[in-house]
Amino acid sequence: MTTTYDPHHPTYVDEADVRDELTRVFDVCQGCRRCVDLCASFPTLFDLLDRFDDRDAGRLTPLEQDRVVEACFQCTRCSVGCPYRPEVHETAVDFPHLMLRAEAMRHVNGHQSRAQRTARRTMTHPDTIGRLGSFTAPLANRITGAAPGSLVRKLLATITGVSAKRSLPRFAGERFSGWFARRTGDLGGRSRQRVTVFPTCIVEYQDVEVGRDLVQVYEHNGIECTLSTARCCGAPSLHAGDLRRFERIADANVRTLAAEIRSNGGDVVVPQPSCARVLCQDYPRYCSTERRADALLLVEHTFDASAYLVWSHVSGTVPLGTEFVGKVPDHIVHVTDPRSASRSTRSTGSSGASGPVIDDLLALTGATVTTVDRSSGVDGLWGLRHGTEAVAVPIAQRLATTLAAEIERLDDGDEGSGSGDTVIVGDSSLANTVIAEQVGDRPLHPLSLMRRAYGLDVGPSPG
Ligand code: SF4
Ligand code: SF4
Repeated sequence: MTTTYDPHHPTYVDEADVRDELTRVFDVCQGCRRCVDLCASFPTLFDLLDRFDDRDAGRLTPLEQDRVVEACFQCTRCSVGCPYRPEVHETAVDFPHLMLRAEAMRHVNGHQSRAQRTARRTMTHPDTIGRLGSFTAPLANRITGAAPGSLVRKLLATITGVSAKRSLPRFAGERFSGWFARRTGDLGGRSRQRVTVFPTCIVEYQDVEVGRDLVQVYEHNGIECTLSTARCCGAPSLHAGDLRRFERIADANVRTLAAEIRSNGGDVVVPQPSCARVLCQDYPRYCSTERRADALLLVEHTFDASAYLVWSHVSGTVPLGTEFVGKVPDHIVHVTDPRSASRSTRSTGSSGASGPVIDDLLALTGATVTTVDRSSGVDGLWGLRHGTEAVAVPIAQRLATTLAAEIERLDDGDEGSGSGDTVIVGDSSLANTVIAEQVGDRPLHPLSLMRRAYGLDVGPSPG
């Protein structure tokens, strides 16, 4: 058995070796149980082990091990504060990366379910789907926006492996790169900093407003934006276990982004936490040896786009404007994502937790900020895959219940004051789609909240 999280190691996808490693780590987690309520992987594991008096993980069958693996959606919450993290303990538990290793082994050995294989064939090509969806937006949105459970959605699920029951993000008629190319973008003498925007595929094709708001807020604060030509970060391929494809994507994007860092002389900002994490943590691990130096350069220069503003402000590099003449709510309930911390330790020297960092940005507006650190159960497209609904929807419902309780608590506190305006803010566009599915209203991205608070007018929404 090899305790390795290095995908280039000769035993990385060796089935016997991976299964022995799963047993070792499952035994450690069984004794710890700290992560029991984070997702379905841990309750599944503990329920399976509690059938045995000795709770020996070595008694699980391969199919039972795979049930734990299949329930992981790579939110990374279990690695935050795990006492056995490889960097702090010789026991070396990196649960999210072990799940990726196990998924890669299952992919190589043909152990994935038919639903997983169907979804992999479509969902690992977000640029192709995005281009097609944007080009045919009215029609595409009629299909993806058909009532959950309808015949159209069931047919779509059969063909693509995308859930027939979940709300899906809408395609924008104008892509982010189209909007970016036609805006003025001239800061005159106000330019104090320059960044490269890595838009991510969901912002390029679907949540275009987030990219637009990012640029507006950055330019308002004198930060010049250029647009990266890199493609989708490849997270769907990584999470589906298709490491060959992921390595090709990683190599191409590392080459492009490193060249852009050198020519622009600035940092790379990413408006989606899961994609920022892929750039910072997964590219150096999975890219080819020839690209390793460029990948490390990328790590040094990549930030979550909201956390980057905090760093700019706190470090004094670009103090942010604090005149908020637009809409500022009384309260913000901020649904955090641990992956927003990708490089935010440069900003404050803190523990790297995302919540407090982005909360600092939101608090500049004068609103009170409350943090909710709960998963939406959708990360990395997992929750939108056909067949995951029974596990994913209850996770989303728990988040919705927590949000409702938080809003009620804030409203109760405002009783009699005449105020009580509360806005939900979420770091991830996919998570925001799930929250909208559960609570009705779509949360704002932190940069959209900031754009509104500054009172910046960006014109009509992209189709
Ligand atoms: S991942 Fe770490 S913190 Fe979570 S149950 Fe396992 S050992 Fe405990
Ligand atoms: S990464 Fe998230 S979903 Fe996966 S096992 Fe850890 S807490 Fe659960």
